[in-house]
Amino acid sequence: MRLQSSLLSTSTRASKRAIPWAVALTNSRTLATTTNVIPGKSSNTDFSPSSSDVKTKAPSTKVAQKKQHLIFGNRGPSLQDFLNSSSIKAHDSNTPKADVSAENVPYLSMQGRKLGEGAKYFVEVYGCQMNVNDTEILMSIMNSAGYVKAADQSEADIVFLVTCAIRENAESRIWNRLTELKRVKLRATKDKAPLVGVLGCMAERLKDKLLDSDKMVDLVCGPDAYRSIPHLLSISETTQQGVANVMLSADETYADIVPVRIAPESFSAHLSIMRGCNNMCSFCVVPFTRGNERSRAVDSILQEVRQLSDQGIKEVTLLGQNVNSYRDTSEDGVSMTIGVGSELSNAGFKTIYKRKDGGMRFTELLDRVSLVDPEMRIRFTSPHPKDFPEALLHLMASRPNICSQIHMPAQSGSTEVLSRMRRGYSREAYLELVDSIRSIVPGVALSSDFITGFCGETETDHEDTMDLMRRVEFEMAYMFAYSLRTPTHAARRLQDDVPEDVKLRRLQDIIKIFHKGAENRLRARVGLSAGECVLVEGRSKRDKSRWVGRADGGYKVVFDDDLILPSIESSSTPAAQSRTAGRVPIKLGDYVQIMTTSATSTSFQGKAVARTTLSEFSWYQAKLLTGHVLPGYRVASTSVASPLVANMGVGS
Ligand code: SF4
Repeated sequence: MRLQSSLLSTSTRASKRAIPWAVALTNSRTLATTTNVIPGKSSNTDFSPSSSDVKTKAPSTKVAQKKQHLIFGNRGPSLQDFLNSSSIKAHDSNTPKADVSAENVPYLSMQGRKLGEGAKYFVEVYGCQMNVNDTEILMSIMNSAGYVKAADQSEADIVFLVTCAIRENAESRIWNRLTELKRVKLRATKDKAPLVGVLGCMAERLKDKLLDSDKMVDLVCGPDAYRSIPHLLSISETTQQGVANVMLSADETYADIVPVRIAPESFSAHLSIMRGCNNMCSFCVVPFTRGNERSRAVDSILQEVRQLSDQGIKEVTLLGQNVNSYRDTSEDGVSMTIGVGSELSNAGFKTIYKRKDGGMRFTELLDRVSLVDPEMRIRFTSPHPKDFPEALLHLMASRPNICSQIHMPAQSGSTEVLSRMRRGYSREAYLELVDSIRSIVPGVALSSDFITGFCGETETDHEDTMDLMRRVEFEMAYMFAYSLRTPTHAARRLQDDVPEDVKLRRLQDIIKIFHKGAENRLRARVGLSAGECVLVEGRSKRDKSRWVGRADGGYKVVFDDDLILPSIESSSTPAAQSRTAGRVPIKLGDYVQIMTTSATSTSFQGKAVARTTLSEFSWYQAKLLTGHVLPGYRVASTSVASPLVANMGVGS
C-alpha cells in the first residue's frame, strides 16, 4: 500500500472536525498492536482520558494555518474538558452531535484491517544508545503492525527521525534534516510523498513547534508512546492532520516487546532495564523528555538475556538513564530481594528526591544477569555516581564476565558548580569514590562526562575541573560546552553567563588534559603479561587487512590477521608459541588474547596470540598472579572473589 500524500489542499484539511478524534482516543485501546511477546508484566502507556491532555490546535503561523493538530499529552484538561470546551464549540458551533459509528470515523473504520499492509518505513537514529534501543523497539512494533523496514529512505512510505534533545546542536541537526525531508515531500508526486515522524526526546518539548512549523511533520511521538505509532500513522494517513502523542508513562518499560536488532550480524546487543530519571540535575532536559524512573521486571530481563545467549551474543550492555538506580518493585523483584546494594556510594552523596526502600537493586540484578552465561560479557551504561555501593564493586571485581569498565559522569570538578548543577555530591565525595573503585576493582577503566561554562563557572571552578581530571586520568571522556535547555531549572533560575568563546576555550583545555591522562593510562597497560582479552568486532576501517575489537575495559584494539593458537593453554611455552601446526584463523565474535605493543589515548595496537574464552582468560590471569609470569612481561591486573559477594547468596 502506498500511503496517501499529506499535501492535500487547505480546504480539505479545514473540513475535518475535531470531535471524532476525541472518540478515536477513547477507542485506541481496542486497536492494540500485536508484538513479539515474552511472558512477564506488560506495561501500558496510560491512555486514560482523565490523565491526559487531548487538544486540537489551530496553529497561529501563516504556513501552519493549513493544518489542524491532534496532541495527546500528560498535562492540561481532561477529555471531558475537551468535549465541553468553548474552543470546540467555537470551532464548529453548529455541528450536530457527532455520529461516532465506525463507518463515520475514519480512524475507527480502519479497525480490523491489517495496519501497515506492507508499507515501508525508514528510521534515522540520533543521540545515545537508549535511542538505538528505542529504535529496535519501534521496529518490533512496526513489523508486528504489518510494516516493512525499507533499505533506503528513497523507497520509504514513512521516515522516522529518532531524536536527541540533550544539546542545542543535536536539535539543530534534526531541524536541518526536516528541511531536507520537506524538499523530498515537495518534489514527490502526491501518492509517493513519505509521511515524516519525529520521535524521541524532542517530541515532548517541541511538539507544538514541530507540528506548527512549515517542516511538514506528520507525526510526533514521545519515548513512552511508541506503542501508539501504528494508530497515529493511521490517523495522520487518513486525515492529513498532524498528530502527536507525547504522554509520559509511570510504568512503560516495553518489557513485553522483543527488540528487532538493528545490527543482527553483531555479537553485541543492548538491553534496556530501566527508563527515565528522578534526579533533575539543573542543566538536564532528560527528566522532562523521558519522565520518571521506572524499572523493568527482573524476570523479563533474564528471559531476554537468555534469548540473546541462545542467539550467540557475546556481549550485552544493560541500558538505562540511571542504570544503576535500577529498583524492581514488581512481584518478582520484591520476592527475590535480600536488600543488597541499596546504599549510596558514600556518605558524601545524597539525592534530591526521597529514596524508597525495598525492591531488587542493580547489584542483585547484575549478579543474576552475569550468571546466565559465563561466556557472555556484561556492561552497563549510563550510571549515576551516587549508586555504586561497595557490594556492586565487589561483584564486578569477582565476576570475570562483568567488564571492568565504569562510566562515572562527574560533569564538573568544582563543588560550587556541582551544587548549582544539583548533582548531589561534592568534588571530595567523587574523588573518594574513584579511590574506592580503583582499589576494589583493580585495572578498571573509568570514563566520565564534563560540561564547561555552566552558569556562574569561574576560572577557579574551571581549575578545579582540570585538577580533578589530572588526578583521575579518565580512560575515556565525553566533553561539551554548556548549552542552555528549556525548561530546566538552570534555564529558569540561573544565568547562562559564561561567554561562548570562554566555554569553548575551557572545553579545549579539558580535552587536552583528558588525552594526556588517557594516554598515560593506556600506555601503562601496554605489554601486560596476560595481554588483553578482546572480542573480535570486525575489520579495521582504516586498514581492512587488520581486525578491530574491544578489550574488557572497553578499549579499542587493532591487530593483524594472523593464524592464532587454539587456546591460551596451548600457547603457554615458548616452544608452543613458535609452533605453526594447529593454528586457527581469527573469526568475528571470537575472544582473542592480544599482546599489546603500543597505545594512543584512544586505542591499542597489538598482536593476536590465541583464541580464548572468558573463563580461560580469567584462569590465566590468576595463574600469572601466583608467580608464573612470562619473561619480559608485567603482571596483569586481575580481581579476586570478595567475601561480601560470596555471602550474597543470590542466583547461585
Ligand atoms: S542524572 Fe542528571 S544528567 Fe543524568 S539524565 Fe538524570 S537529570 Fe540528566
